[in-house]
Amino acid sequence: MKVRTRFAPSPTGMLHIGGARTALFSWLYARRTGGDFILRIEDTDRERSTQASVDAILEGMRWLGLEHDEGPFYQTQRFDRYREVVQQLLDNGQAYYCYCSRDELEQMRAAQMARREKPRYDGRWRDSTEAPPPGVEPVVRFKNPLTGVVAFEDQVRGRIEVSNAELDDLIIARSDGTPTYNFTVVVDDIDMGITHVIRGDDHINNTPRQINIMHALGYEPPVFAHVPMILGPDGQRLSKRHGAVGVMQYRDDGYCPEALLNYLVRLGWSHGDQEIFSRPEMIAAFSLEAINRAPSSINPDKLVWLNQHYLKTLPLARVLAELEWHVAAQALDLSAGPDWADVVAVQRERVRTLVELVAASRCFYEEPSGYDETAAARQFRPETAGYLETVQVELAGLAGWTDTALHDAIARACDRLGIKLGKVGPALRLALTGGSSSPALEITLHLIGRERSLARIGRAVAFVKNLPGKA
Ligand code: GLU
Repeated sequence: MKVRTRFAPSPTGMLHIGGARTALFSWLYARRTGGDFILRIEDTDRERSTQASVDAILEGMRWLGLEHDEGPFYQTQRFDRYREVVQQLLDNGQAYYCYCSRDELEQMRAAQMARREKPRYDGRWRDSTEAPPPGVEPVVRFKNPLTGVVAFEDQVRGRIEVSNAELDDLIIARSDGTPTYNFTVVVDDIDMGITHVIRGDDHINNTPRQINIMHALGYEPPVFAHVPMILGPDGQRLSKRHGAVGVMQYRDDGYCPEALLNYLVRLGWSHGDQEIFSRPEMIAAFSLEAINRAPSSINPDKLVWLNQHYLKTLPLARVLAELEWHVAAQALDLSAGPDWADVVAVQRERVRTLVELVAASRCFYEEPSGYDETAAARQFRPETAGYLETVQVELAGLAGWTDTALHDAIARACDRLGIKLGKVGPALRLALTGGSSSPALEITLHLIGRERSLARIGRAVAFVKNLPGKA
């Protein structure tokens, strides 16, 4: 049988990394087995669901490259179908109308609590022959089996068994006729032919109920794999105070989707001691059995490490494509300056994020707006003006502006001055870039270009000469 997995987010916020990891595992399992991956938007909670969240989820999935084979299906477009199935269960005597008022349910609950019992619906309308009270819009409840156990082999947790006596008769349709979560999931999983439900373990308590409804409808339940949650580095439940939780925030912060995907796959899944997984590698290695049973903690340093790895090793064209958004976001005008690909080829070796890459490359396209103060205080000394002038003369005399020629010209200037490169190098870098970090000097000069480099050195010389002399 062809494997069919699904990701079924409720669009009540952004796609967070917990959801993205669940989506990744479902996607990987489908890809691993040659199956289909279905996207379903569980938007029946109309108060909390928004189009903006749907868009954010779709954007996150697209950015991560978790393409779906079918969908997105929207539960709000399937209300007729849910109504039909509710009716079917009513007709077959597997569901019934319950006319309990809110007060009545409250009293039931209070009495049970007083008796130190677990609060649950007591089934009073289950087989009732009483006439319905007038004017009450009933809810529909599912007739949960009264005896026996409901059991399943969770692919992560192992066997789970719940006694039916623990489960009460769940509401499947509210008094306004709208279906409830546990019911819509079952109808959808059946209609969409889902074979494997891979989801967060916050849903594990719903599973026995869903299995009972499945059985009532005459279907065998899918295979379940409940994935443990993701914790912050402090072992607490992951939240905003741990930093970015939304997938698109990671894009904004300068991470490549390849890095985030690799990071996510290792959150709660492992394959020997392998850390780096390309997309085909993770597909080839993925299995549900290797999902950890224990929750995993995020490790921001590891994500940075992975990002650096991918920045260095991805095809340059991929990095360039990913940079487009950042160049626009940081309003860097690439039209007046060196070939962007040449800059990126150098910079990707040196930075941790794409945000840093763009920021560190501004000096190749724009005149530095000033000099970093700390660096200037250290590097721009009275004697620096003369040093820089000598370098400028050597550079100006060059016939070709190549890395080797530039390197040699700087070395010649140092020889003539009788100083080591360390005496003028940082000042030269500061003159060229306004800061103290850039690629090797000859590469920096090369990328900035001849005219601009010479002009910038000239400006720095004037700046140094104008510095108020120390008395
Ligand atoms: N809509 C549920 C959620 O976002 C997921 C339901 C499921 O995967 O069965 O938590």
